Amino acid sequence: MTYLSNDPATFAEDALAGFCELHADTVRRVPGGAVRRSRPSRPKVAVLPGGGSGHYPAFYGVIGPGLADGAVSGNLFTSPSAQDAVSVARAAHSGAGVVFSYGNYAGDVMNFGLATERLRAQGIRAENVVVTDDIASAERPAERRGIAGDFTVFKVMGAAAEEGMDLDEVVRVGRKANDATRTIGAAFAGCTFPGADAPLFTVPDGHMGLGLGIHGEPGLRDVPRTAARELAADFVRRVLAEKPAGAGDRIAVLLNGLGSVKHEELFVLWADVSRLLRESGHTLVLPEVGELVTSLDMAGVSLTVTWLDDELERLWTAPAWTPAFRRGAIAADSGEEAVAEVTDDAPRFAEASAESRQVAGAVLDGLRAVRKALREAESELGAIDAVAGDGDHGRGMVRGIDAAVTAAEAAWHQGAGAGDVLAAAGDEWAARAGGTSGVLWGAGLRAAGEVIGDGVIDAVAAVDAFAERVMSLGGAEPGDKTLVDALVPFRERLASGTWAQAAAAAEDAARVTADLVPRKGRARPLAERSVGTPDPGAVSLALIARAVSEYLREGTR
Ligand code: ADP
Ligand code: MG
Repeated sequence: MTYLSNDPATFAEDALAGFCELHADTVRRVPGGAVRRSRPSRPKVAVLPGGGSGHYPAFYGVIGPGLADGAVSGNLFTSPSAQDAVSVARAAHSGAGVVFSYGNYAGDVMNFGLATERLRAQGIRAENVVVTDDIASAERPAERRGIAGDFTVFKVMGAAAEEGMDLDEVVRVGRKANDATRTIGAAFAGCTFPGADAPLFTVPDGHMGLGLGIHGEPGLRDVPRTAARELAADFVRRVLAEKPAGAGDRIAVLLNGLGSVKHEELFVLWADVSRLLRESGHTLVLPEVGELVTSLDMAGVSLTVTWLDDELERLWTAPAWTPAFRRGAIAADSGEEAVAEVTDDAPRFAEASAESRQVAGAVLDGLRAVRKALREAESELGAIDAVAGDGDHGRGMVRGIDAAVTAAEAAWHQGAGAGDVLAAAGDEWAARAGGTSGVLWGAGLRAAGEVIGDGVIDAVAAVDAFAERVMSLGGAEPGDKTLVDALVPFRERLASGTWAQAAAAAEDAARVTADLVPRKGRARPLAERSVGTPDPGAVSLALIARAVSEYLREGTR
């Protein structure tokens, strides 16, 4: 339960504002997150962890000497936008390049990937280190999601950058740390979004969810709750079974609380975990027990082990001084104050023909019709996403369309034509919605807008451009249980039929996604739980198709 908020919709921003006020001597707020207040005296690689909010002290709690140079911070459990990442990177960059680091979630991978492309185009070297420590989430290491092991990877990279390693070296040690890190966790109770009256998931009485996620995803499997001693043995056995080939016997260990498990409980568990790890022949190097990567108020705990070689041990044990994590003694930054930058110019639109202006007005009204439909469906879409995802789909889509309509209105008032109105709507959707669906919808609408240009709408060409962009960016194929499963039949039917027929095809296709097993996105680790429930992104796509179809029927002009 979250007891205190003002407007639940601004909870993440309000929390960041309070944090930056408290730590104003060391941390400064910038659009999209926060950075160290002072710049380094010599250019150094900027290490920038990031992701959704709700994980404090990840990510902005670890900004400071020896650790992060800044943090990109999205809405609750929602990937920050590419624009957020670019903004933080530009504020933190001191001339030696930037590296983003984040857990392996589709929305983060896409948004940080887009940000990396944009920074490179602006002449700033940018790289990514993706964390994949959760052994319960997938067989193949590259497909695993990132949970508490985020912290170890950030710590190592932060120390490497502080030592003066160059960008390639910081990336190399970050990837090495990730390859050597394994986490397993268990959830006892779900977390509750500010303003919500029920948790995102529940664990049956007397049970625990093994293989927890950090975004309110339920555990992968409910098992009877055991004594701490047995849980310790289970965790240790599972993690050691995943020991990397050739690893030595010195390990960094993190016993992490997820938000509402007391330190005393963690200590009870630690007594057995530490004993069992030692009995297995390992030497524990500066272990950490506490809250380092949380999930709002979730009750849960996870065990992370990182096998250390000499280099990783040096970086793991190096000093750091941040609001939430301090180790040893380290000199504070002594450079000049970082300066805020405005990263994006206000858009200027090419002059539009009278015809295109008229179509632009219709595009704007169509977007308003979609906004009405999405607002009405917000809680239903959230509920579908909560079954196997993180429950944010309704909120994300509403944030996206709200921003899109505002941007489209502004563009329209500035004299933009149809294509520019749609592209501006897409850019703001991507910037504000966050999440996987946000970046895809935003990029898709921009692509559709570019095809329309100053012309009259060719709906088939616009939908083709939308579909191609979404599929190339997200990499999903039909059958993966994503919005692509509704998009492809919609596009095919539209080519030979009416918008209403195409909307019906999308609805049918969205319905039958209930039978599919997800192969992309956040729902994949909980694939079995998802069967029987349609894909939230496919459902919202069909709903949007229907809203546009009804708008066209009623509002034909
Ligand atoms: P997140 O998954 O980041 O929480 P949302 O909940 O807003 O974002 O959106 C989830 C939807 O995104 C899924 O239901 C699915 O339709 C869609 N999705 C996820 N990954 C992909 C992908 N790679 N390609 C296309 N669509 C995807
Ligand atoms: Mg979601």
